[in-house]
Amino acid sequence: MYANVIIDISHEKVDRTFQYLIPEALVDKIYVGCKVLIPFGRGNTTRGGYVISLSTKPEIAPEKIKALTDICTDSVSVWDASIDLAVFIKNTYGSTMIDALKTVLPVKRVTKEVEQKSIQAIVSEQELKLAAFQAASKKRNAQARLLRALQETPEIDYRLVVSKLNVTAKTIETLAEKGYIHIEKTRVYRNPMKIQPSEQMPCKLNEKQQAIAERICEDFTTQNAGVHLIHGVTGSGKTEVYMEVIAACIAQKKQAIMLIPEISLTYQTMKRFYHRFGEHVSVMHSKLSDGERYDQFERARKGEISIMIGPRSALFTPFEHLGLIIIDEEHESTYKSESMPKYHARDVAVYLGKKNVAPVILGSATPSLESYYKALNGEYVLHKLEKRAVAQTLPKVETVDLREEFANGNKSIFSKLLQEKIEDRLERGEQIMLFLNRRGYSAFVSCRTCGEAVKCPHCDVSLAQHKDGKLYCHYCGYSTKMVEKCPSCTSPYIAGFKAGTQQIEELIHKQFPVATVLRMDADTTKNKDDYDTILSRFSNREADILLGTQMIVKGHDFPGVTLMGILAADLSLAGNDYRASERTFQLLVQAAGRAGRGEIQGEVVIQTYQPDHYAIRHAAAQAYEDFYEEEIAYRDLMSYPPVEILLAIQFAGTEEARVAKLARLVCAQIKLLAKESGVRIIGPAKAVLGKKNDRYRYVIYLKHRDEKVLKQARECAEDYLASLELKKETVQFDYNPVHNF
Ligand code: ADP
Ligand code: ZN
Ligand code: ZN
Repeated sequence: MYANVIIDISHEKVDRTFQYLIPEALVDKIYVGCKVLIPFGRGNTTRGGYVISLSTKPEIAPEKIKALTDICTDSVSVWDASIDLAVFIKNTYGSTMIDALKTVLPVKRVTKEVEQKSIQAIVSEQELKLAAFQAASKKRNAQARLLRALQETPEIDYRLVVSKLNVTAKTIETLAEKGYIHIEKTRVYRNPMKIQPSEQMPCKLNEKQQAIAERICEDFTTQNAGVHLIHGVTGSGKTEVYMEVIAACIAQKKQAIMLIPEISLTYQTMKRFYHRFGEHVSVMHSKLSDGERYDQFERARKGEISIMIGPRSALFTPFEHLGLIIIDEEHESTYKSESMPKYHARDVAVYLGKKNVAPVILGSATPSLESYYKALNGEYVLHKLEKRAVAQTLPKVETVDLREEFANGNKSIFSKLLQEKIEDRLERGEQIMLFLNRRGYSAFVSCRTCGEAVKCPHCDVSLAQHKDGKLYCHYCGYSTKMVEKCPSCTSPYIAGFKAGTQQIEELIHKQFPVATVLRMDADTTKNKDDYDTILSRFSNREADILLGTQMIVKGHDFPGVTLMGILAADLSLAGNDYRASERTFQLLVQAAGRAGRGEIQGEVVIQTYQPDHYAIRHAAAQAYEDFYEEEIAYRDLMSYPPVEILLAIQFAGTEEARVAKLARLVCAQIKLLAKESGVRIIGPAKAVLGKKNDRYRYVIYLKHRDEKVLKQARECAEDYLASLELKKETVQFDYNPVHNF
């Protein structure tokens, strides 16, 4: 018997199976998916690897095949279905097989099982008495102590025996051998959920929710389950629909995975699910201890739980009867992996759903352009929930033009309107949230008079200012010296926007000395619990104002908040990539959704230099469809996703000249192919982060409508790269990138 093994080294050169002979003694122990130790290379260094198939046929001369050394019993094995998934991920996203295998195996090390041990007497009380007497007479006092204790209580916790009775493990062993006692072992699972289930009745769905749930449940009985996009405003009751469908899924003896965008939101969601489904639910995320994670994995594998909730990697839960996948807040960028393989959880979920004939539900108040595009094309089923489930009106939104404020001599960061409203709320004792939109923020420059950001003439994205003072485009490499006048209105007031949350906090103290402020940003949430602490303090009304970055706009309910101020809505608009408008729209709608979750109607003030920009106009009106129409027209015009697929090839290395040359060479290879296939090539250009950790970075973009054509181009690049002796340079592939490289 031979084992085909993927070596645990991530390098193109060894990205294939190697065949090893299975020694006689191990034949019964080796199976597909297990981790083994093997001698590798000329020096026969011991390496790890995963067996991905077995065969009886040698691929080369049998005498040249080395024997594998051993099986690693302390490593979790990959299960069969995951090997197939790894192959899909490797083929779709371009990575080594070992990286794909590690991705589908979220828990890698076997952790010691937690056992509860107890000691039971297995002879009569009379015999115990006699044995205790004999032991005492031979001065075996420890034995005597335990035997006497067992006369009173026939079963005692093992730890108590050791700690309280002061009896050693060896003594216990001796008594067990003599046949007086038995050591009873039961496995207990570490439980990361510290919530008490309650007997809450699920709320009755309204007509709209019911119709959606029923339509999705039909998929449990057909042979082609679909992908469902629920577009529902915040608070429209999407989560209630998910729970209804999950209940139907469990009733069919099938299992469900529900992805949420961030660990910070786990607790809220878990609480609701735990109340409804009790012990059926578990969580899996990186903040759990190794032991907790391993145990959840085991419980899932054995079918002891039916619902797994967690971020991206929860998708790889080893459920044998997967019947449903839900992706909540499907537009969130955290669903995209930022390390190789750079997969998107949404696409992998769709693949998994097809394979398991399981419906997939995507839910959002602001669906990604990708998903909405597919829904309109009929690839996904579109469902809508247009009203909040409980009678609460959406907040009233007002937009302030910062250019006018500037012209009227107001140089403060707060517009007059926002100042008045803040004072009003402080007087009334209501709470305020202030959101500094810094996402996608880079050193762009814009005009304080007309609000325009300086853009690349070829790509229609903002130029970034570098330390050398010049402006650069990170798509095509265009550069120009810093402009002195605004290209659109010739105003000389051109500058970067540099205020951070900390400066704004100081400004608040100056301008509203009575207000108490909590600040939430990367600096104030360094420790694990900081995030929850700030939120619960604000929730307990320990502060009037919560100031923060995008962290504060996600999914939290604060009934005391009646005013949301968005300080500079355009900041994310100038982020120099094609998703800038989409991201801005999503953030503004989410932020607006935070105000007025209680009894009093909420108000939102959006401060902006570009009140006419469609992302801002439509966000203020909470008009998703209108936004979608304008945005998709722009994507179409510029051939950006989802109309075409964008593949970024990212190069990095320690010597800039070598990295740049490699990028040029790969580009030339693809160009040879491009003539026939029509792939469009942009670049190579220096990356947004031109240098990171002392490594220089370059990037090439490829565009085409057809996934297959891009795959060909990628494989052409991969083949070429495999033929080179690359030592220090790395190359990564990223489809429809979410963040700039
Ligand atoms: P979403 O997930 O769309 O933001 P939720 O499911 O969290 O919405 O619902 C928002 C609020 O409305 C929750 O407090 C929920 O309990 C309540 N709710 C949802 N559907 C109903 C319903 N049919 N009847 C009563 N309350 C509902
Ligand atoms: Zn201008
Ligand atoms: Zn450009």
